[in-house]
Amino acid sequence: MAKVVIDKAACTGCGLCVSSCPDVFEIKDDNKAYVKNQEYPNCDLQQVAAECPLEAIKVE
Ligand code: SF4
Repeated sequence: MAKVVIDKAACTGCGLCVSSCPDVFEIKDDNKAYVKNQEYPNCDLQQVAAECPLEAIKVE
């Protein structure tokens, strides 16, 4: 199964990934994106990763 890893050093907390897939991503108090749910039935992860302007989302 795919696994999402977020490069915290690259992430600026822009929120695009949360807008694209709020079931999976969230922004925490440190203004970085986190994966809150490792099951993503409704998300196209490759598409969300491609939308990240900083290329901070890696799908393994
Ligand atoms: S789209 Fe990329 S830079 Fe923006 S919050 Fe998500 S992981 Fe961070």
